[in-house]
Amino acid sequence: MHFNRLRLTGFKSFVEPTELVIEPGLTGVIGPNGCGKSNLVEALRWVMGETSAKSMRGGAMDDVIFAGTATRPARGVAEVALHLDNSERLAPAAFNDQSELEISRRIRRDIGSNYRINGREVRARDVQLLFADLASGAHAAALVSQGRVGAIINAKPTDRRHLLEEAAGISGLHSRRHEAELR
Ligand code: ATP
Ligand code: MG
Repeated sequence: MHFNRLRLTGFKSFVEPTELVIEPGLTGVIGPNGCGKSNLVEALRWVMGETSAKSMRGGAMDDVIFAGTATRPARGVAEVALHLDNSERLAPAAFNDQSELEISRRIRRDIGSNYRINGREVRARDVQLLFADLASGAHAAALVSQGRVGAIINAKPTDRRHLLEEAAGISGLHSRRHEAELR
């Protein structure tokens, strides 16, 4: 499924509302060290339901909120929205009435995150399952961050299998089975 647009506000170094239009084909992001290239990829991972502060290079999830500089005060809220092309109608039935899906996540300092799909409040789980089924989740092999290439090469066979399952889009089924077994 194609990503059409990514919108960030108050997320890490993107303090002012920033919108990225993602055209079909290959997209490259270039810029000097520290300009926010990795922050963009982390915004993608975050809106897909990432729960590990460590993999966002922070100590706590609140650390994704703009922390302020010498000239700008810190923010209390961060928000990321991702627009997905749904013209092929691959979305889950509950959200399949529109040709574009908007997934958004908002975090308020000391309060935590909430998620929306097309404006409707949903659980983190709903967003994670949506992306797991689309084979592009927060941990999917398709999102390879700095340093991960070596980690994949050195991974234990079971961990590597997990990556392959995510790439194949079947990890959503595994986690649903696990939930069912717990009931
Ligand atoms: P490199 O080329 O070195 O990989 P990069 O373009 O990937 O650089 P990032 O790591 O995305 O750069 O951005 C780092 C910048 O983001 C740093 O200047 C850091 O201070 C800033 N930053 C990270 N988190 C926050 C935050 N919560 N508030 C404000 N700025 C932040
Ligand atoms: Mg980087």
